[in-house]
Amino acid sequence: MNTFIFKNPVELIFGKDTVSKLADKVKLYGNNVLLVYGGGSIKSNGLYDQVTGILKEAGKNVFEVSGVEPNPRLTTVHKGVKICKEENIDFILAVGGGSVIDCTKAIAVGAKFDGDMWDVITKKAVPTDALPFGTILTLAATGSEMNAGSVITNWETNEKLGWGSPFSFPQFSILDPQNTFTVPKNQTIYGSVDIMSHVIEDYFHHGTNTKVQDRFCESVLKTVIETIPTVLENLEDYDGRETLMYSGTMALNGFLRMGTLGDWATHNIEHAVSAITDIPHGGGLAIIFPNWMKHVMNENLDRFCQFAKNVFDIEQGTKSKEEWALSGINALREYWNSIGAPSRLSDFGITKDQLPEMAEKTVRFGNFGRFKELNKEDALQILEASL
Ligand code: NAP
Ligand code: FE
Repeated sequence: MNTFIFKNPVELIFGKDTVSKLADKVKLYGNNVLLVYGGGSIKSNGLYDQVTGILKEAGKNVFEVSGVEPNPRLTTVHKGVKICKEENIDFILAVGGGSVIDCTKAIAVGAKFDGDMWDVITKKAVPTDALPFGTILTLAATGSEMNAGSVITNWETNEKLGWGSPFSFPQFSILDPQNTFTVPKNQTIYGSVDIMSHVIEDYFHHGTNTKVQDRFCESVLKTVIETIPTVLENLEDYDGRETLMYSGTMALNGFLRMGTLGDWATHNIEHAVSAITDIPHGGGLAIIFPNWMKHVMNENLDRFCQFAKNVFDIEQGTKSKEEWALSGINALREYWNSIGAPSRLSDFGITKDQLPEMAEKTVRFGNFGRFKELNKEDALQILEASL
């Protein structure tokens, strides 16, 4: 294992009917609350009424930022920061999926930052404070509810960049699996692919003596693989939704990666694709991941053989190591095809002439990827294989 420091201060409130706990939580903060949500799913499923009812009952003055886009935009962050500064907001509540939560993190930090939040996102400036915020999660996917990461898209520069700071952890996150019953099939697929991708990013490392971490990862992967079809069959399957929700949080709250250094090249490439085309994050990952795997598998064939055996139960038999490694990658591709995840960039109308610009964007901060360091040419090859 590598040496590591672990800290995760998020209070997780998990389970059936836990939204009512919001009443106690908001008592801890001042009266001016900014409610942040997306394009309206919380209005049609009743969560908006429930949450605003609790806030009003608690005597809060509620301000709103609505319409947070999937792949949240800098312009929306600016809108939220402006309200926080003008209305002396005391506390922010995010109700939605990863996009709403990521946008809220940027608003919370931006509200206490004297300058343009984009400077923080591009790492030109370091934040030193934030408004406190909590979340009510409605989609199992990003893990943003229990980490400090946020991904924001700037449509002026066509950049989608991840950032984070010790000040961007939620104070609390309320996770009631029932709030994910209305997530449609396609978003359930994208979210589940994102959960699996977070685990796979961390699984491909060069650390030694990481049996516990590896088995944690394999356990989450196998469980999610088993659960997705049952949820797609019945979108209101409580046990399945509960398993996906818990898996999504565990996949990216830091628990699985203590003492290891995962890869994260595929997320970087996906962000470059989304920055130009606005495709759903999980859709992009489903397309790119198996091609990244093929591109880098010779870096450590044993790890890929372990993936084939422990995640997809494929024994070596008469196969060479290379064939065994490849069988695991193909099993992942086939599994994602079987649940209806996309497999080609062209499924989203992306054309070959767009790929060089995407490859260029992957190296905004230099070469990337820790399992295998990649450059622009590698990114282009992976994108071409994904077309
Ligand atoms: P999302 O973009 O938050 O939401 C996708 C869609 O699902 C939206 O149209 C949303 O509609 C809908 N939706 C959400 N909850 C719903 C519900 N309960 N019922 C019906 N529809 C619902 O999806 P996401 O996958 O959670 O977030 C993706 C973003 O997070 C990307 O920008 C990605 O890059 C980023 N990300 C962040 C992290 C991190 O650690 N911070 C990690 C990975 C990815 P409404 O807008 O109407 O609510
Ligand atoms: Fe992700």
